[in-house]
This record gives sequence, C-alpha cells and structure tokens, in this order.
Amino acid sequence: MTKPAAPSSPIYMDHAATTPCDPRVVEAMLPYFTQMFGNTGSRNHKYGWDAEAGVDKAREQVAKLLNADEKEIIFTSGATEGNNLAIKGAAYMYEKAPAGQAKRGHIVTGLIEHKAVLDPCKRLQKEGFDVTFVDPPVDGVYTAEMIKQALREDTILVSIMWANNEIGTINEVREIGKLCKERGIVFHVDGTQWVGKMPTDVEKDNIDLLSFSGHKIYGPKGIGALYVRRKKPRVRLQSLFDGGGQERGFRSGTLNVTGIVGLGKACEIAMNEMEHDAARLFKLRKHMEDSLLKSLDYSAVNGHKDKRLPHIANISFGFVEGEGLMMAVKDIACSSGSACTSASLEPSYVLKGLGVGDELAHSSLRLSLGRWTTQEQVDFAIEKITFAVKRLREMSPLYDMHKEGIDISKVEWAHH
Ligand code: PMP
Repeated sequence: MTKPAAPSSPIYMDHAATTPCDPRVVEAMLPYFTQMFGNTGSRNHKYGWDAEAGVDKAREQVAKLLNADEKEIIFTSGATEGNNLAIKGAAYMYEKAPAGQAKRGHIVTGLIEHKAVLDPCKRLQKEGFDVTFVDPPVDGVYTAEMIKQALREDTILVSIMWANNEIGTINEVREIGKLCKERGIVFHVDGTQWVGKMPTDVEKDNIDLLSFSGHKIYGPKGIGALYVRRKKPRVRLQSLFDGGGQERGFRSGTLNVTGIVGLGKACEIAMNEMEHDAARLFKLRKHMEDSLLKSLDYSAVNGHKDKRLPHIANISFGFVEGEGLMMAVKDIACSSGSACTSASLEPSYVLKGLGVGDELAHSSLRLSLGRWTTQEQVDFAIEKITFAVKRLREMSPLYDMHKEGIDISKVEWAHH
C-alpha cells in the first residue's frame, strides 16, 4: 500500500477543498477499527489502554508538527469545531462584562475569513460583543499594520487565518501575533490551509490558538485539532460541550480514536515530506499559471503574486461566462469563483472583497494541486482550460466588441 488507486477522471485539482487519504494513514488507522477499538476512558482493561496508547502517540505527532507540547493539543471534529471552540470559548472566557450588558469586549477578524470564523464572530456580535471585520487589501494579504489599526483598548481576541482557502494568500501571522502578545490579546489562527503544508512553530509564530482539519492534509475527514497555549500565557477557554470531561474538559465526548490515529500519521508524514511536496507543487503551479497567462490575454491571478501557498492558483478569465467555463472544464475537478447559495449562484465574497467584479468572479477557477498531482495532469489542465476559454470567447459578443475597440463600460445597453 504505497500508491493510492488514483482516480483518473476527472483529474483532481481541488485539494484546498479536501485531499485523498494517504494509504499510509489508512494503514495506520485500520487496526483501531477492529482490534484496538477500545474507549480511552476505559482505564481498567487492555482495550482502553491500547486505544489510549494510539491517542498518546498521535498527540505527540500532532504536537511535533506545531512545535507544541502534547498537553496543548485538543482533538476536535475539524476546523469548524476548532474555530468555534477557539473564538466563542475565548470570547466567553475573556469577556469584560457579563451577558446581557453592553461592552462585552471587542474582537478583530478579517472580511475574507472562512465562514467557520465569520459566522461565530457574527453570532458573538448579536450577543453583545463588538466585532471589527477588517477589509482586505487588493492583494488579499493582511499585514500587522492593518490589524494594528483595528485594535482598541477593549480588544480581547484577534482571529486571522494563516492562508486563505480561495486564493492561497498568506497573512503576516508572526507579526500579528507579536502585536497581540505585547497587548495581552488572545490570538487565534485558522491554520486549515497552512498546517501540514508549510512550517509551523507556535512559539516563533506567537500563536495562542491554532485550528486545523485532518482531511486537508491527507488524513481522514471528521477529525482535527486545536492547539491551546498552556504557558506564557496560559490560555483558557470556556468549553462548548458539557459531558464526560474528555480532552481536559475542553471537549467532552468519546475520542474518535481511529480518526485521531489517522491525523497523527498524517502529521508525521507532513512533517517529513512538506518541504519536498511544497517545492514540487510550486514548480507545477508556476508552470500552470505562466502557461495560462501567456496563452490567454485578459486573464489574471487573484491574490498577491508571491505571498501565496505553493499549491493554489486562483485565476480569472475575462470575457467568458462563468457557468459556460465550468461546463467546458468538467474533466477537471476544481472550484469556481461562484458559491452556491440556496437557489442562486453568488460571486465569491472573497474575490468580491478584493474588488474583483461579479462577472470576473464568476469566471474564475481555483486550481489546487496535491501530493499526487502529476506534470501530465497539469499539462492536460492547461490545454483544456486554454481551449475552453478561447472557444467561449469566440462566442462572446463582448469579446468581439472589445476587440473592435469599443469600451464596454461606456456602452449604453437598451432596457426592455
Ligand atoms: N477554515 C478554512 C480556511 C477552510 O479552508 C476550511 C475548509 N474549507 C475550514 C475552516 C472548515 O474546515 P472543516 O470543514 O474541515 O471543518
């Protein structure tokens, strides 16, 4: 079991959404389904001890990847839960006034965070906390200076993602952490797209709370971890679940032993292979971006040119219709710049936040590469996308008008 049975069609270029499980991870997990299936809470027999030994090892593997202590790792069901526990748990613990009173405290986050950060913050806002959602710059990178401007005397928490899931941009985490440390503000980082892909050191990076998910790093779904700082300073959280008091009271519920063992193995592999993976994927992504931008005019990469994860490319193609583009590239499993909300296609709020227009947001593709992406797959994607965009433009009256020198923004359209 070394190579996965790679699905060949459509080719998978959506690793920012989720990754296949590494066969080495599956192998590590298997005995915990059938032989070592015990409950870690069973203290008086071998089944419980075996399960606990598996969890202990995984906790070490996770801690090592973050340069943390094992006692600082809380297993969760994933980044959504980790973000909720970090943000609500810290807000309720460090609030300045009890519920029902004004001025419970101020929280700072970004406008292009994942919904799993935005929505907990919005809930807290309804409950009486003040929240500042900092506007992103056009390149999508949050600097320490931008966050500094938003801080107040009563700021209790800053939550900023390490890397953006749609455009891959990397924020100034270490510097933002330093600011927070100097002011005694709790600093949470949504590390879902970063951890396991790029070097992480909670000490050097000045992080108090760090959440991530197993399924983004070739581990299983439904498992993740939250790092909670225990020293300098000791960070406290109000738990969200009441129950058996597992995970030192932070997260009650029988431990997902198989998932935890898988997450641990995924972290160990990531630790050993991330440097190699990142260098390889950077070359592939660069080749893909350079080729697409060279062969297709009116195309542009969204987000900062360099301060980006090596494996994510988000590219807008002017003068093509978004749905047509997705249909035309259905041999490539990737994401579009549109989000499906209940009935309609909404342009991505992340791209909108950067100032990308609705049309262009719809005609954007997020191509995210992974551990088993090959040069052949990348070349296939380049060819497919180039062909699709050129064909759609042949059918586009706007592209025709543009080529004839008509300024489309000045055209007065007839209203019927
Ligand atoms: N944060 C970020 C940045 C993400 O990319 C994701 C997953 N798309 C999440 C949080 C939520 O992770 P999960 O669905 O595994 O809980």
